[in-house]
Amino acid sequence: MPEPPYRAVLLFGAPGVGKGTQGQRLGRLPHFVHLSTGEMFRSLDTNSPLGREVRNYTERGELVPDELTIRIFRDAMQRLIASHRFDAKQDTLVLDGIPRNINQCRILDREIRVVRVLHFVSSNEEAMVARMKRRAQLEGRKDDADETVIRHRFEVYRRETEPLLGHYRSDLILEIDALGTPDEVAAAIEKGLLKK
Ligand code: AMP
Repeated sequence: MPEPPYRAVLLFGAPGVGKGTQGQRLGRLPHFVHLSTGEMFRSLDTNSPLGREVRNYTERGELVPDELTIRIFRDAMQRLIASHRFDAKQDTLVLDGIPRNINQCRILDREIRVVRVLHFVSSNEEAMVARMKRRAQLEGRKDDADETVIRHRFEVYRRETEPLLGHYRSDLILEIDALGTPDEVAAAIEKGLLKK
């Protein structure tokens, strides 16, 4: 099998652990490009048929179907490449929110070469819920405003996404304590990435 074309760092962790914040920070470093599927979905026009279809899933805390997710991911990649914001020869993707289940994992195995998995770990689910409720007020995210939806997203994460950690080589996985301030978490990531 030929080597998959795009180098990628994966951001892994339950909802609210700070993947978006840290992904954006990493994406500001030279040769790192942040791509968040959640953000891609939120940026769709909610009046378009596609936007309405996606919102149906995101507002309930369900995963968007794989076929749609992969199509939107590939379109985003093509746009990044066409606009010279991502050059596969020298850049690394920072993937935030994908893959989210084993099927996506297998499809992406042919498209990305995972060089690191940052696993954001939080022992305190209630702190994550509180963070998401604050975020709902700041960003107006509907899926963060409703506690039932938040709890459901945790369940989906535990059932579909967390087991994927077993799919990647354990020496690629870096555990990051997610409970610190953004600066503390960023420092832990930098230290971990430099160690190897
Ligand atoms: P996030 O911003 O990563 O928490 O994603 C927000 C919502 O977008 C999730 O609750 C899902 O409904 C949807 N979503 C994001 N990424 C994916 C994905 N890879 N597969 C399916 N649904 C996704």
